[in-house]
Amino acid sequence: MKKFINDPATVVDEALAGMALAHPELRVDKESRVIFRAGQPTEKVALISGGGSGHEPLHGGFVGPGMLDAAVAGEVFTSPTPDQVYAAIKGSNGGKGTLLIIKNYTGDVLNFQMAAELAHAEGIEVEYVVVNDDVAVEDSSFTAGRRGVGLTVLLEKIVGAAAEEGQTLSSVKELANKVIAQGRSMGVALTSVTLPAVGKPSFDLPETDIEMGVGIHGEPGRRRTPMMNAHEIASELVEAITADLDFTDSPAIVMVNGMGATPLIELYLMYNEVEQLLAQRGVKVVRNLVGNYITSIDMAGCSLTVLKADEEILRLWDAPVATPGLTRGGGVVSQQPVSHVAEPAQAKVTANETVVHAHRQREETGNGITLAMVRQWMERAAKKLEENKEYLSELDAAIGDADHGANIARGMSVAVDKLAAADPDSFGDIGKTAGMALVSSVGGASGPLYGTFFLRFGQEIGDVDEIDVATLAAAFRAGVDGVRSRGKAEAGEKTMLDVLIPVANTLEAYTDAQLSDALSAARQAAFTGRDQTVDMVAQKGRASYLGERSRGHMDPGAASAALLVDALGFVVLGE
Ligand code: ADP
Ligand code: MG
Repeated sequence: MKKFINDPATVVDEALAGMALAHPELRVDKESRVIFRAGQPTEKVALISGGGSGHEPLHGGFVGPGMLDAAVAGEVFTSPTPDQVYAAIKGSNGGKGTLLIIKNYTGDVLNFQMAAELAHAEGIEVEYVVVNDDVAVEDSSFTAGRRGVGLTVLLEKIVGAAAEEGQTLSSVKELANKVIAQGRSMGVALTSVTLPAVGKPSFDLPETDIEMGVGIHGEPGRRRTPMMNAHEIASELVEAITADLDFTDSPAIVMVNGMGATPLIELYLMYNEVEQLLAQRGVKVVRNLVGNYITSIDMAGCSLTVLKADEEILRLWDAPVATPGLTRGGGVVSQQPVSHVAEPAQAKVTANETVVHAHRQREETGNGITLAMVRQWMERAAKKLEENKEYLSELDAAIGDADHGANIARGMSVAVDKLAAADPDSFGDIGKTAGMALVSSVGGASGPLYGTFFLRFGQEIGDVDEIDVATLAAAFRAGVDGVRSRGKAEAGEKTMLDVLIPVANTLEAYTDAQLSDALSAARQAAFTGRDQTVDMVAQKGRASYLGERSRGHMDPGAASAALLVDALGFVVLGE
């Protein structure tokens, strides 16, 4: 791999530092990895987007007058965490509400939603829209839906102009949803993509083949086919998009976007094809964008985005914009800086946060789980997840993006450290400390889900000194219900829930039994549930993009959930 890198681990931080130096008109919060406009927030709806890094100039390059107010940068191809997004919301709040622009990936959606909830609790009005324009992926209620790709750029421009005009949060959101309804995209890869931390191409693409319908993280597309000429490739992209939405007799804004390693001469050549092909279908291209706007690190390839335009959209498209990645027109008139933004009310402190237990280390009765045992559970889980890190990531490589082991091992080790530092003295506080540690250190889909599990688990137990089987069952059920409602998933969809739900059911069936019997049955249920995911077709998360092709592989989240349950079993029963 030949790349301009000092250390793969600091690529995002060093690039952000470079942006800060190159663009004094921006303010980079290096701690939270958020790019803001310099100066005070203005009295307008704040527009925030973000996601994994590696798609530059998206999103940080689109911060500035006429476009975004803040952009949140995750690790390369990994969604940012809720506290990062929350920092962006707080730092750009002009008192008129905030709209989050989320690309449709489970990890992004969950992490941004959690941030919106945190901000809501403080009295900040936050709404969000989810961009899902990639026609390469079947749109189905049985999957995570379509990926968000190129349309995000056009949306940020158009909606940015509306916010700059002083439109209200509800009208800005309505406009964003109109753009989402009227735009479609599809991409094609000529080469694979190499992540700095991995050092070799993410997927194998022979010199003679191309991936039609590729995703911006190198996700598989519609088909792999031998190389074709530009006219044939453009025809397939135009055909796929116009077959999905009828653009006939409509003026359109068109983007031909480079994926990072395609020369501009080829992009213009493609634009020449695209405009003529669209004209043959009765689509009149009235505005365009040709260049690198939403990239996939060093992938060679391009994507095509077509957006149906009306008068309102065209007016906003033509409005001036001044950002590092897109500049047009002079003198963007921004709203006045906010003189004083009222400090939002603090989130309520829950009752059990202040409870101090007099007797922390209870004597073990043999049929209950003590605070110390819950701490041992976390430590054992962290050890086992670390030992199985590579195995879990291999499972994720087969049907996802190969980060699950690293994600969850890192998160659980942070949770253990936080517990050691905070030394919480109630089950509620243990759950909260561990849950928030996971939420703020894991990212991806599993961070908010496991984080929610532990938050709810602890909350449910309340003020007791020891957990009996009935309380454990109730706490487990509360945690599982939290995961279900956050991820909108159920049993049988090939996720961590295929372990967590059977375990909750088992514990409930054992409420009158001994703790040891309940946990050995729970362990068994966890292993069975995990193994049953092999034959399932994924319907949630990243793996759902693979459809039938996800069958035959164990779900990585189910495997890590089984390790968690096994670790609890170990604390009570031993090996
Ligand atoms: P990402 O998919 O964002 O890379 P991870 O690799 O850390 O995140 O986690 C993937 C795991 O998350 C999956 O194996 C699955 O068990 C779980 N998962 C994904 N989406 C959902 C969901 N909607 N509900 C429950 N679990 C989910
Ligand atoms: Mg993953």
